[in-house]
Amino acid sequence: MVKMSDNLTGQKKTAVITGGSSGIGFAVASRLAADGLTCILIGRNRQKLEEACRKTGNNSYGFPADLTDLSSLPALVREIASKFGRIDVLVNNAGIHLKKPALEVTDEEYQRVILTNQTSVFVLTRETAKIMAAAGGGSVINISSMASHYGLPGVIAYAASKSAVEGMTRSLAVELAPYNIRVNCIAPGFIKTDMSSSALDSDPSRKERVLARTPMARLGKPSEVADAVSFLVSEAASFITGIVMPVDGGNSIGF
Ligand code: NDP
Repeated sequence: MVKMSDNLTGQKKTAVITGGSSGIGFAVASRLAADGLTCILIGRNRQKLEEACRKTGNNSYGFPADLTDLSSLPALVREIASKFGRIDVLVNNAGIHLKKPALEVTDEEYQRVILTNQTSVFVLTRETAKIMAAAGGGSVINISSMASHYGLPGVIAYAASKSAVEGMTRSLAVELAPYNIRVNCIAPGFIKTDMSSSALDSDPSRKERVLARTPMARLGKPSEVADAVSFLVSEAASFITGIVMPVDGGNSIGF
């Protein structure tokens, strides 16, 4: 554990945010920390985690971990639960992108995206839900992508992984409702982060099309996704489960 604060109370609600050290995940961690939750940030890069915890302020802790190491995840969840006493919120945000023509994607590349974006989400959620169920409830947010709603070329593995995340959201929402665990999904449109910059800056005509069909005519801000997470995990959303909420400036309904 990367220890960033001595203010370990065990009383406050605790949120685990995967990929919390950059982009959307960092904005989510900042927002949930501002909402008063203790935030546990997971990512592979220890230095990035330390930096993110410093910026998020009191009550943020980094756990360096590679989510593709599936067999390590049960122990990771147990360690977090025993250190903090509870896990109220899980935000499955970590993900990788692969932009490549489908006919050139290798088996290894395909599997790497599925393992990171889909299988690890299931394993981490399964383990965390056991803790939440024993404690009387919780809230899970999955981050999918508008890429799974469109026929977008060049993102076959990514689109497949994110479509699965949306299916898992509905399935788990039904199975976990009896344990008072809500499971929802946010499908961001095009949000300005390192990931989208590398996909769009190398392809100016795609960027132009994205902006042209987004009624709000701009990329989204990570904080705008974080605001939606904050709402969905709050009591204000206590009767909402199993939904996929677009946060996309109208991109999905733009003509
Ligand atoms: P970033 O590339 O900025 O952040 C991805 C995060 O995931 C990093 O913190 C990275 O940390 C972490 N991560 C990646 N692989 C692993 C792994 N194996 N184990 C642990 N952590 C990992 O991406 P964004 O903020 O743009 O995207 C966040 C999520 O939002 C993703 O799921 C993405 O698919 C989704 N999304 C993004 C959109 C956008 O326009 N930006 C649009 C739609 C969806 P580290 O490298 O240290 O491991």
